[in-house]
Amino acid sequence: MERIGLILLGPPGSGKGTQAKELEKRFGFVHISTGDLLRKAVREGTPVGKIAEKYMKEGVLVPDDVILNLVNEALSRVTRFVLDGFPRNISQARKLEDIMQKIGGRIKRAILLDVSDDEIVKRLLARRICPSCGRVYNLITSPPKDDNKCDVCGVQLVKRSDDNEETIRNRLAVYRKETAPLIKYYEERGILSRVDASRSPEEVFSSIVKVAELK
Ligand code: AMP
Repeated sequence: MERIGLILLGPPGSGKGTQAKELEKRFGFVHISTGDLLRKAVREGTPVGKIAEKYMKEGVLVPDDVILNLVNEALSRVTRFVLDGFPRNISQARKLEDIMQKIGGRIKRAILLDVSDDEIVKRLLARRICPSCGRVYNLITSPPKDDNKCDVCGVQLVKRSDDNEETIRNRLAVYRKETAPLIKYYEERGILSRVDASRSPEEVFSSIVKVAELK
């Protein structure tokens, strides 16, 4: 069976994780987030986690070889998938093409979630995560029902350690320099779609469904 992948592109805080989770729930695309895989490795103190930790703290990219090992492993087991946070630079995008060729698959669409820098800083400072189930909240736009506790698990919500102003600024700079060139890269391959991601998660999701021709 042919493997089909979607790529969610966009700055930190543009809603890639939220939308990828919805694509998983509604259309069975396996959500592959390199950020989540790295955070898990850091939590578990694996060799990969030990290398990745210092880069993540600074908000800069973890070396490609570490990331490619994670992605290779994750892609070998899935047929429909959505990539969140990968590729992050041109060299990773080229490597992804090699992997797809090797495993017999294709990237159907790269979808850019477009949001302004001001909105991103606002969103990331208000972002809270459930450490138990991974659900993402925003204290302004989608707060938990009960004061700072997960609606599902009842566990106290936490801030991601890289969601502080200094690291956010670094992550945005890295995005502009290293990741944004992928917009042109996928445009040239005729598979880029842009979605206005300043709207509500539901509105953004219905645009994604449309451009990815899922219905
Ligand atoms: P994210 O959860 O996607 O915002 O990623 C959090 C951090 O993990 C980033 O700031 C990077 O340090 C690292 N990271 C995640 N994905 C990648 C990737 N594809 N390449 C390099 N570093 C990554």
